[in-house]
Amino acid sequence: MIKAIIFDMDGVLIDAKEWHYEALNQALELFGFSISRYDHLTTYDGLPTADKLKMMSLERALPYGLHRFINELKQDYTLERTYLNCKPLFIHEYALSRLKSEGYRIALASNSIRRTVELMMRNANLDAYLEFCLSNQDVSRAKPDPEIYNVAIGRLGLAPAECLIVEDNKNGIAAAEASGGHVMRVRDILDVNYDNLKRHIEAAGGAGA
Ligand SMILES: [Mg+2]
Repeated sequence: MIKAIIFDMDGVLIDAKEWHYEALNQALELFGFSISRYDHLTTYDGLPTADKLKMMSLERALPYGLHRFINELKQDYTLERTYLNCKPLFIHEYALSRLKSEGYRIALASNSIRRTVELMMRNANLDAYLEFCLSNQDVSRAKPDPEIYNVAIGRLGLAPAECLIVEDNKNGIAAAEASGGHVMRVRDILDVNYDNLKRHIEAAGGAGA
């Protein structure tokens, strides 16, 4: 019986892939580096910036000394794009408000930093429906490690089988599956609508709210 829904943020509630991709490249290009769209989609998407930079140092000799500066710059560029582009989406407001009124508990677990999570949820008008949000600063190991979902399920005080996790990419799905929760995989943010969520809740054992 599903009692709670835990949402990933990027690619699920917010279409921010492009903002993260462009923001990181804007920072990397100052030093003559960039990530191709292919590498982004196959490897880097969904990982925290710090992990992407570590991979670039191992694979492409990006100097470690630049990590902190590039990361800070990237976060500023992401926030700029968020202020400009992040708007409420009716299907999400409708889905979350209706599920909440039906008694489901709703939380968010994202590999983004806390400042980005808070800004995006506020600008998308979704913060009022969320019992809590976890960012990559609330755990020591980011997705694909399941820690963030283990912490979220623990904070809800529920069993993994009582939670439906909504995820969009391989790093997130690996984390969600390892936590033992039910996983709803979406292709894009438009898949995240009331009817689709309800179908997955029922397939996972029905309503427990
Ligand atoms: Mg995602």
